[in-house]
Amino acid sequence: MRLRAYQYRIYPSKQQACDIRKACGCRRFVYNWGLQQKQQAYLNGQKLHLYSLMKKLPDLKKELPWLKTDAPSQSLQVALMDLEVAYSRFFRKLGDFPTKKRKFKSKDSFHIPQGFKVTPKDKILTLPKIGNVKTVFDRIPEGKPKSITISISKSGNFFASVLVEQDINDPELKPVNPETTIGIDVGIKSFAVCSDGRTFENPKHLRRTTSKLKVLSRQHSNKRKGSNNRERARRSLARMHERVANQRKDFLHKVSHQLADESQVGTICIEDLNVKGMLKNHKLAGAISDCSWREFFRQLEYKCKWRGIRIVRIGRFEPSSRLCTCGFKNDALTLADREWTCPQCGQVHDRDLLAANNIKRFGLAKEMAAGTAVKSLGSCRVVTPKRRTKKPTRL
Ligand SMILES: [Zn+2]
Repeated sequence: MRLRAYQYRIYPSKQQACDIRKACGCRRFVYNWGLQQKQQAYLNGQKLHLYSLMKKLPDLKKELPWLKTDAPSQSLQVALMDLEVAYSRFFRKLGDFPTKKRKFKSKDSFHIPQGFKVTPKDKILTLPKIGNVKTVFDRIPEGKPKSITISISKSGNFFASVLVEQDINDPELKPVNPETTIGIDVGIKSFAVCSDGRTFENPKHLRRTTSKLKVLSRQHSNKRKGSNNRERARRSLARMHERVANQRKDFLHKVSHQLADESQVGTICIEDLNVKGMLKNHKLAGAISDCSWREFFRQLEYKCKWRGIRIVRIGRFEPSSRLCTCGFKNDALTLADREWTCPQCGQVHDRDLLAANNIKRFGLAKEMAAGTAVKSLGSCRVVTPKRRTKKPTRL
């Protein structure tokens, strides 16, 4: 079984758009209400679990009838589940303590786990309490639809993400073989360099539009608060940001697809980057977040999983661009040095290519140590148990 999400742009009518906004508002309200209830219970020395919260929902609906009329009831339950997830992420130290969702600030969305219908033939999505919404199916969802998430972007476009269950199992992982293994080094100058010599240049989407964004954001802040002009300026600024985000996403998908779609590649070694720590360098933070390495690795990982390609992550403290093949470690190397010559053996190294090759080396070593069968490194050597011989006694 494989879960896969397809995102489509939807075009609701004026009334439907209003209904969707209301449902988003209900979801936000219930989330905040749940958070408040939980915090209150905590102050009273109690714990309020998901199901006791859900049991309180019908009473809340009686008190506030608009919750009943404006939102699909299942969506409100999912809002409480989301809250539970946020709490458990906090306790597992994966996220911050959940905060209130705020109108205009938080992303507007709601989840529909039941009662919808997907009909690509008629270009229609049928949603509970909202009705038939015009949808552009740029591709047909393959599989059994499980749930739908409706979201509104900051520039005011509506989207539906359809989660489907596909009757496909992931293929078995290919065996590790040094010849079909590549290492990938990601960087700011070149987006990615592979150990086989391929380079993907960094398109630097953000940098190309920085000046335009500056102008738009100044125009926005110069408009009177609450005016129509300000809203118009906010929209064009949001549109620009979305444009950059879309370009970036498109680029990442193209690169990760190209890397994962090669039949001759069996293993890909990557570096486990500490992006959060790197962002503390304010001079590079913009350039680093524009690269979105984490999103790139996420895409690469699931695409490889679908094709049986193994991903090996090497530790973040390995000296990948400093270590020569002869074992010399160049501690004087700075970020500005693109090339260096080894003083011990005289080899000239291209920084990124060397890093990619070292990542491959470290990755293979890690797999060897983990006991994964590595081919051709002494191919199929039979290891016989050592025979104990008596130590010759010294006289
Ligand atoms: Zn050397």
